[in-house]
Amino acid sequence: ANAPAPRPGILDIAAYVPGKEHAPGVAKVYKLSSNETPLGASPSAIEAFQKAAASLERYPDGQATELREAIAATYGLNTANLICGNGSDELLGLLCHVYLGTGDEGIITEHGFLVYKIQIQAAGATAVVVKEKDCRVDVDAILAAVTEKTRIVFLANPANPTGTYVPVEDVRRLQAGLPKHVILVLDAAYAEYVRRNDYEAGVELVSSNQNVVMTRTFSKIYGLAALRIGWMYGPLAVIDALNRVRGPFNMNSPAIAAGAAAMRDQAFVATAIEYNNEWLGRVTGALSSLDLRVTPSVTNFVLIHFPDIDGKRASDADDFLTSRGYILRAVRGYGFPNALRMTIGSEEANEGVIAALAEFMGR
Ligand code: PMP
Repeated sequence: ANAPAPRPGILDIAAYVPGKEHAPGVAKVYKLSSNETPLGASPSAIEAFQKAAASLERYPDGQATELREAIAATYGLNTANLICGNGSDELLGLLCHVYLGTGDEGIITEHGFLVYKIQIQAAGATAVVVKEKDCRVDVDAILAAVTEKTRIVFLANPANPTGTYVPVEDVRRLQAGLPKHVILVLDAAYAEYVRRNDYEAGVELVSSNQNVVMTRTFSKIYGLAALRIGWMYGPLAVIDALNRVRGPFNMNSPAIAAGAAAMRDQAFVATAIEYNNEWLGRVTGALSSLDLRVTPSVTNFVLIHFPDIDGKRASDADDFLTSRGYILRAVRGYGFPNALRMTIGSEEANEGVIAALAEFMGR
């Protein structure tokens, strides 16, 4: 007998495929495929995690109060405008389930983060894909794609896997051009890394509008990807809607404690920003001098475009690097058949990839 069929559309969803973890037969592996920090987490976050692990028999605080208070204090926000999730992935999914249904449309961009499409489809809605211009989100093309069925627009700023960003005037123009019933999701997973004056993470845009939310994560600069901690800042009505449908205990206690401690240790974050800034520049410069085109990035990763020559394509480089223990991310699924994404890693990892790619390119 057959198992019951899922709702129409569910089996059309292409499941998320995480980056490679292993390099078979290589003793030392450098995993640069998931934009994880090489610096680990703040020691105070690890200590808080261990302390919380002493009472695992108890349910967590369903409101994640300590964590929301720590975030509110750091950014000068009201805790009532904050909701935490099991990774920002959970919040992106909740937004789709709350604002989309059959017949609705969600707008995403050509090389956008794959989770948006999965969650739009899971809600029974249609993902409308808007072209980008040279790895950059095109705000006017998004506005042109809006129909009366549009309910949500996803903008990763900065974007993954391109590492580019949309300047604040353009994000404001996007918000101003959207109908008021359309939610603009500013996914700011990589916000902390950006060192630009014309960048706005989204706080101000959320504060001054009823249809903008900003999502953030502890998985990148805070080095807590394993704990799955994300947060969202949004208007009270949006927070209320998400709170109605989320799991009552969607955050676990060690994650709440570790996230709050990490948020209070902004000195650790400052060090991580400085480290990344230095190596982002060095890696970009070194790879560019090897006849590889690197999309200028403001994040903790770079998109490397390979020549369209037999033996020099991204798939060849992927095999070559993997055989030496360097695992980068193939980004075919993001519409880049001939590129690899590299996370800024430890000094040893960065220098190793640069040397290996020099050899690969025949330098
Ligand atoms: N948004 C973007 C653009 C990302 O790259 C990621 C992580 N890959 C996420 C959201 C999700 O992060 P998390 O669920 O770990 O908070």
